[in-house]
Amino acid sequence: MSKIVITESDLAEQVQCAYCGAEIGFDEPVTACNECSVPYHADCWNANGHCAIYGCSGGGAGLATGTGYIPQTAGSVRNTVGKVIKTIWDIVVTIVVVIWYIFLFCIVASAVYNAIFNG
Ligand SMILES: [Zn+2]
Ligand SMILES: [Zn+2]
Repeated sequence: MSKIVITESDLAEQVQCAYCGAEIGFDEPVTACNECSVPYHADCWNANGHCAIYGCSGGGAGLATGTGYIPQTAGSVRNTVGKVIKTIWDIVVTIVVVIWYIFLFCIVASAVYNAIFNG
């Protein structure tokens, strides 16, 4: 049972399932042909039962079980980037809200000032 390593560069190139043609996401279970190493969704491999590449003799029942995985690093890198973006966004939203409250305070304060001293 060999493990399949999907690297960051693979993700950038969008790894496609050789059976259904759809992209294999970074968090989806994958497997690969034991002959030609073409990647598949684990479900697609199980559904087809053998390699979909013409002329390849790869296949076998139960081959996909536990053979494919996406390294946690690939997902965690994206999660970290997402968290950083969310943190920056939260800070921006907080600053905008604080500025808005200061603005409102100035309007109210000037209205009160005018009412007291000019009214
Ligand atoms: Zn597929
Ligand atoms: Zn194959």
